[in-house]
Amino acid sequence: MAYYLKDLSFTEEGKKLKLSDEDRERFRLVYKREGDGWVLHDIYEKGGDYGDDCIVVPLESTYKGWEYIDQGVSFSNVIGSTYDSKPIDPDTNHEYRNWIELWEKTYKRVNNENPVIECCTDEMVYETRNQVEYQSNLHITRSKRGCIICGGHVIKGNLARSISIGSLVYIVPICMRHDHIKTSEYMKMGNRTFAVKLDYMIIPHNYLAQRPLETHEKI
Ligand SMILES: [Zn+2]
Repeated sequence: MAYYLKDLSFTEEGKKLKLSDEDRERFRLVYKREGDGWVLHDIYEKGGDYGDDCIVVPLESTYKGWEYIDQGVSFSNVIGSTYDSKPIDPDTNHEYRNWIELWEKTYKRVNNENPVIECCTDEMVYETRNQVEYQSNLHITRSKRGCIICGGHVIKGNLARSISIGSLVYIVPICMRHDHIKTSEYMKMGNRTFAVKLDYMIIPHNYLAQRPLETHEKI
């Protein structure tokens, strides 16, 4: 059970979201304690297995808007994202659906049309060793499950790493193969790609000083 900080203040961009009650319920985010703050962990699911070191916050409290990332820009998976540990059902794609829905929803809001949902990479996976960049095509060998598109959370640059306060995490559509590359590997945008921006880490100290964690509802 995680503590639900439902009254946490909204970001400026979050205020503009104007979510329906249904979507507000659907896109609550789980942050997990790490050192001094909490880092993005998952989209909240009812009955999910969350510990006391997790908080649940409204999407509007951590949403930082969107941007287009240019073709060719390098990006990496966030270390410590929840994906690796989760069993998935390839037929329903259950664990991944919410992230891509969040991306899709935002895209529609901004562009007034349905997005094409496909892996946003250039199909390659990259690794730099001794200052030489190596690449190989990940899509050639994809299984059916590997073709599933999920809303990966990624950071810019070619170094998968844990990041700190003030950093952004980007939600972009990538396939399962690209979502599961090694931490030493990175990707590049195949096209100019729409990305949703969220706070990677939050430290709601002031809020918790007024309303300690224990006073919040657990969900
Ligand atoms: Zn891919």
